[in-house]
Amino acid sequence: MTETVNPFESFRTQLDEAAGFLDLSDGELERLKQPERMLETTLSVERDDGSLTTLTAFRSQFNGDRGPYKGGIRYHPNVSRDEVKALSGWMAYKCALVDVPFGGGKGGIVIDPHNYSETELESITRAFATELRPLVGPDRDIPAPDVNTGQREMNWFKDTYEQLEDVTAPGVVTGKSLDAGGSEGRVEATGRSVMLTAREAFDYLDIEMDGASVAVQGYGNAGAIAASLLEDCGANIVSVSDSSGAIYDPNGLDADAVSDHKTETGCVADYPSTKELTNEELLTLDVDLLIPAALENAIDEETAEELAADIVIEAANGPLTPAADDVLADRDVYVLPDILANAGGVTVSYFEWVQNRQRFHWTEERVNDELEAVIENAFGALIDAYEDRDLPTLRTAAYVIAIQRVLDAAEKNGRFP
Ligand code: NAD
Repeated sequence: MTETVNPFESFRTQLDEAAGFLDLSDGELERLKQPERMLETTLSVERDDGSLTTLTAFRSQFNGDRGPYKGGIRYHPNVSRDEVKALSGWMAYKCALVDVPFGGGKGGIVIDPHNYSETELESITRAFATELRPLVGPDRDIPAPDVNTGQREMNWFKDTYEQLEDVTAPGVVTGKSLDAGGSEGRVEATGRSVMLTAREAFDYLDIEMDGASVAVQGYGNAGAIAASLLEDCGANIVSVSDSSGAIYDPNGLDADAVSDHKTETGCVADYPSTKELTNEELLTLDVDLLIPAALENAIDEETAEELAADIVIEAANGPLTPAADDVLADRDVYVLPDILANAGGVTVSYFEWVQNRQRFHWTEERVNDELEAVIENAFGALIDAYEDRDLPTLRTAAYVIAIQRVLDAAEKNGRFP
């Protein structure tokens, strides 16, 4: 059973561990562990039956030393102040690690969107955009999709901002549809960076991708696309899951056919000719690569003890508790951290923002090539730091690089007021 761990505490623990290898004061460290600004707001929205409902929403602006705040908006019943703070912090160090000129941000609404109609979700998104208007903008803070939000919500957000400001400003959000100023390759970007990270890691560890067995927890945007792209590289996707449960076929699933099944039926369960597993069983399968791609705290200490994969690549943000991280480090399981593996999303969001500013549309090939270069460079820097500085884990190496970059920017900016 997964223990309840506060994600903001997990984030702060990760920073403390890396800070031990850096030259920074207690004051500097504390500044790097807290958001600069946090908004909590109550959205009042009329439902289809005429009744009024209120929803709690948050936006955290974590660190602006390297550029405008940037990060997704999540619609989920478990959204909390501390979850949003943690997610915004992970964004800040993710942007620094892949050297994208943004700071970190994140937002969320405490809501189960499945209980609301499309009209109601539009009103809710527009209400949130209206609340956020003074804080966001292409040079201030740029939201994007996250769990249970996508192009539709980003289009509504952009339209609300543009109407209120009376401007054309597609760069106020990323992850829009192509017609509304989105980028080629953005939908696939997170899954693509997971695949690229896997490819680099397998190469580094001298493991064959061809025929490698892969299990994916969370068959949504990040997980399903990672599975499909890994299958294209020759990997064998043996098990996938969503909140309805897991399916298993040792001979390999057809990743795209499972996606089609999920689109048709709403879940991966009942996919023909497969064995049903629990999510716990998926996480402890003896596979070459395990990809947690659902939510935080999916793997706790107990599950980590039972985990049989050789490599874990974090597609989700914060899927391992700090205790699970320690167990896997002791057991020499390679963990490729979220702030590298899922950085494709924010990297192509950055490309989208650049295209919006240029009023110029890049080809999908260009987007994918530029993303590949970013992930390859970040992976190379990560391995250099890990080996040259003899750091205990790849996560610590990632934070050592990222924190140093944020510190350097803060130092160059100077202090004001
Ligand atoms: P999504 O809503 O498209 O997919 C999430 C999937 O996880 C769904 O299929 C859901 O059923 C499944 N799920 C939820 N709880 C589960 C559980 N307990 N066990 C198994 N499956 C479960 O969301 P997404 O955009 O793919 O995001 C997934 C993770 O990736 C999140 O941590 C998110 O922050 C991270 N991420 C996403 C992006 C992006 O661009 N979409 C970018 C970076 C990071």
